[in-house]
Amino acid sequence: MAVKIFIAADRLDSVLEKLSTKIDLWIPALLKDDKSGPTGFVQYTPGITPAFDRQTTMPLKKLLLPQEETLLRFKYQKDPEGSLKTTIALDDPKEARPTLVFGARSCDVRALVTLDRVFANGPYVDPYYVQRRKNTLFATLVCGQTDSKCFCSSVGGGPADMEGSHLRIVRLEDGYLVEALSKDAQPLLADLAEAPDKSRDQLAAKLVKEASKRQVGDLDTKDCAPAFRNRFQQNDYWASMVSQCLSCGVCTYVCPTCYCFSITDETRNLEGERLRSWDSCMFYHYTLEASGHNPRPTKLERYRNRVGHKFSYIPERYEGLLGCCGCGRCIRSCPVNIDIRQVVGNLKENSNEQ
Ligand code: SF4
Ligand code: SF4
Repeated sequence: MAVKIFIAADRLDSVLEKLSTKIDLWIPALLKDDKSGPTGFVQYTPGITPAFDRQTTMPLKKLLLPQEETLLRFKYQKDPEGSLKTTIALDDPKEARPTLVFGARSCDVRALVTLDRVFANGPYVDPYYVQRRKNTLFATLVCGQTDSKCFCSSVGGGPADMEGSHLRIVRLEDGYLVEALSKDAQPLLADLAEAPDKSRDQLAAKLVKEASKRQVGDLDTKDCAPAFRNRFQQNDYWASMVSQCLSCGVCTYVCPTCYCFSITDETRNLEGERLRSWDSCMFYHYTLEASGHNPRPTKLERYRNRVGHKFSYIPERYEGLLGCCGCGRCIRSCPVNIDIRQVVGNLKENSNEQ
């Protein structure tokens, strides 16, 4: 039998507080003390108000792929027999605490399917990512606040898509109906709140049904890969689409499916750390080689790579999976209003013209 609870709106704080004693709890919230400022996922502490009303500015990915993390520490030890001999003692921290994300959206959780292919299911498994992934559960909001930039239905998702989610949250007028979708999530709901009454249960089922039917976005993503190949060498096309790009990299930082990173060693005296940090394929230096050669020297090649990666290379490599979840963040955040839907949508338009 399904395990469900109803959390009255005025009891949300106390329920979150109780939940946070069972598990590390993360919620969407303001990142600054400014109601119209950026939002992101933060660890819950009593007093933080969840920001459920709009898509967060920053995506979920930092929970599984932190913006900066230490991969290992090392220490050179002088050998008393000869100061030139050194040994390296490696210490790789991989501990991940059980975590619940409460109030993610379906596009955010679906984006992790792309990251899983790369970090967990590919030929090279990333133990840091996998540890966190295994220990993280997602309570996902059935999305009722799409805006003109969202296009989740165009890329295989939808406002009620629960792929990868462990609990479903349906927002009602007077509170939230939360249902466990997987067995490992059921214990979290024990002793938190009462089961919903019949009328609320029926209303939630109706809202889920309606949200499942809603079509968000009308981008045609069929056959993008061949269309992209056709356009690959048409520099005029790419120039017409992205000439105003500033190479600021914001689109990649806010993107839940972008995962480029760089690795650096930071050493002080005989000790140091190996760090992994987010990088961006929109930066000139990202592909700059030690020889001085840069295979993607202009923004045109860099934006083309970004589109190709999401709509051609990933689908071809991973059986049709798109590298975009349609969250619209890159469109909302681009300072010069470049719209990836327009670039992808136009791939097929008169693509044989040169
Ligand atoms: S490319 Fe844009 S719309 Fe697609 S997942 Fe990334 S930020 Fe979202
Ligand atoms: S956010 Fe816009 S301007 Fe900045 S790199 Fe991306 S496409 Fe270019």
